[in-house]
Amino acid sequence: MLRVHSYESMGTFDGPGLRFVVFLQGCNFRCLYCANPDTIDAEGESKPTSEYDILKQVTDMKPFFGKRGGVTFSGGEPTFQAAALVPLVKAIREQGIHVCIDSNGGIWNPAVEELLKEVDLVLLDVKQANCSRHESLTGRSNAQTLRTAEWLEQNGKSFWLRYVLVPGYSDMEEDIRLLGEKLGGYKMIERVELLPYHTLGVHKYEAMGQEYMLKGVKENTPEQIDRAADLLKEYFPLVVVN
Ligand code: SF4
Repeated sequence: MLRVHSYESMGTFDGPGLRFVVFLQGCNFRCLYCANPDTIDAEGESKPTSEYDILKQVTDMKPFFGKRGGVTFSGGEPTFQAAALVPLVKAIREQGIHVCIDSNGGIWNPAVEELLKEVDLVLLDVKQANCSRHESLTGRSNAQTLRTAEWLEQNGKSFWLRYVLVPGYSDMEEDIRLLGEKLGGYKMIERVELLPYHTLGVHKYEAMGQEYMLKGVKENTPEQIDRAADLLKEYFPLVVVN
């Protein structure tokens, strides 16, 4: 059984092509800007769902995936349920369907390692390259995330590096350069996705009776996005704003 928060049937944002996105419940991070705070708790209002049920939905969607699309497991943090996810990912790939996992890279155990070996593509979210600012932003160290990036590189596993540009929290030039210095030489990074900060999830905090900690932080200006993209392009060959 997997704890599923929700589904998106025609996602264009989380990986190549058209995707069936499965948002899994539970996360090890506590990002101040999390747009899905209702996915963080290990159970929340999620429904335990059988692997068979998910496989059936995926198989029904197969004609819509085309050449590039497929399934993306997101969350929450999908590696939170890695042990249950491994056999499902294997079964989906046996159907010839492309599988992505969107992960913060902060959990490591034998099941996570097996899961990462199994998927076609990892979307690795690095929230901050500076460790102490990462802790302020997410409540956790970035050490494992960086080790996960290193593992992907050493194991020849393609990945997309994703970076959310939060004004005042992750848009400082020195931090963007630090990211480039740490990961810029990695050959397995197919692209860097620069994700503008947005406030679309704020109403969820209100509904949950929680305070949104980044109140007052404004969305990026086009100039801020261009500046960050230009900095990243000094280190990475392909940078896209998503
Ligand atoms: S890693 Fe993702 S799901 Fe987890 S708290 Fe951060 S933004 Fe939210």
